[in-house]
Amino acid sequence: MKSFLIAPCGMNCSICMAYLRDKNKCPGCRLFNKNEPVTIAKCKIKNCATFKKSKSKFCFECEEFPCDKLKHLDKRYRTKYNMSMIENLENIKKLGLREFMKNEKIRWACSQCGGTICVHRGYCYNCRKKV
Ligand SMILES: [Zn+2]
Repeated sequence: MKSFLIAPCGMNCSICMAYLRDKNKCPGCRLFNKNEPVTIAKCKIKNCATFKKSKSKFCFECEEFPCDKLKHLDKRYRTKYNMSMIENLENIKKLGLREFMKNEKIRWACSQCGGTICVHRGYCYNCRKKV
């Protein structure tokens, strides 16, 4: 896993549907350029002016952390996908990015084939095993 795959909001891009799919693949929030027709162009956090101005690498470094935009996104993911961006950010802050990524790799690995479980779909993109 590459460190640029952890988005400013704490999202792990490597478990995202848009990153895992074969067609119209997103390279991840940090590499995304707006000529590519993916949903992330609409992301309020990626396009957040306060965050850009703060020159932070992650939202927790921003003066407005945790802002309403992030809290809203976090709530949606906690409810729908059983994942929390804010929790991710707190772990990055506490453990460091390397350790966080190590844990993420274990957390989202398919027990059957070692492939990656998609947070949005809830199954392994390699063998389609459900979690
Ligand atoms: Zn699998």
